[in-house]
Amino acid sequence: MVIAFIGLGNMGAPMARHLLKAGHALAVHDLNMAAVDGLVAEGARRCGSPAEAATDAELVLTMLPASAHVEKVLAGDQGVLSAIQAGVPIVDCSTIDPATVRRLAQLARAQGNDLVDAPVSGGTGGAVAGTLTFMVGASDNLFAKIQPVLQHMGRRIVHCGDVGNGQVAKICNNLVLGISMIAVSEAMALGVNQGIDAKVLADIINASSGRCWSSDTYNPYPGIIETVPASKGYQGGFGVDLMLKDLGLAAEAARQSRHPLPMGALAQQLYQVWSLQGKGHLDFSSIIQLLSRADAT
Ligand code: NAD
Repeated sequence: MVIAFIGLGNMGAPMARHLLKAGHALAVHDLNMAAVDGLVAEGARRCGSPAEAATDAELVLTMLPASAHVEKVLAGDQGVLSAIQAGVPIVDCSTIDPATVRRLAQLARAQGNDLVDAPVSGGTGGAVAGTLTFMVGASDNLFAKIQPVLQHMGRRIVHCGDVGNGQVAKICNNLVLGISMIAVSEAMALGVNQGIDAKVLADIINASSGRCWSSDTYNPYPGIIETVPASKGYQGGFGVDLMLKDLGLAAEAARQSRHPLPMGALAQQLYQVWSLQGKGHLDFSSIIQLLSRADAT
């Protein structure tokens, strides 16, 4: 199949590589020439614009930072919609707000194309390993059509309902994650301050009702789990600014539907404060440092 792949960043490049390995013909585009060079060296075709990539594509995939970038790549000057053939589906894997997805889907549908949202979880490690989870918003027919392609890049392909619902699933999960990381951080910092050994406390939480992914798989206290960013100076992983972006998407969805989001709003503010202190590039579990006493080790 001829696939246009636009957005070859930390996630997009390894995802595109899996499609090449699976034997698909890739037409690639990115503003960053070095990213394009890498894929071209492996057999992809270089394209100077989203429109050029989409011209003869049988499927278009995008993996871009945020809503404004997706809007520009799809509906802007030299965008995908200006050149794509009728009937060709567009699958956006970026994390953006559900309202933008649904609006762009209407625009695409008016000219005979379907837009599918398929945001992912699993991080850059999952993108490299081809083990991402895709949360897909699409009709039943379209889901069946694109599932085999997504399977080259992911292990779990979940149909969440119609267009936009993939993003709803993604932002709700990350809302829980952002809040639970703060809860575990508060508890770990308080416990150590009160004199308990950090490992003993983590073991108790992980065998009790406080257990969650933020405590047993990604504990924010250094040295509890050797392989996570907390034990590596909070380098790598999922950045504070990316968490901030996702909590912003949840807050915006809540605002639009006048839905209460008190814990999410507080979590967003705490990551915002941490980002403003110059920590936006650190893994989001570093929020424990904001919640620890200055004299803590
Ligand atoms: P990234 O910044 O590494 O890559 C984005 C790429 O898009 C860059 O190469 C950039 O040059 C390109 N780009 C931006 N505007 C463009 C335009 N107008 N035309 C062509 N190319 C353009 O971001 P990433 O880490 O790959 O994340 C992509 C998306 O995946 C984001 O929405 C993010 O929230 C989501 N996500 C990221 C992770 C993660 O761990 N990094 C995990 C899950 C989901």
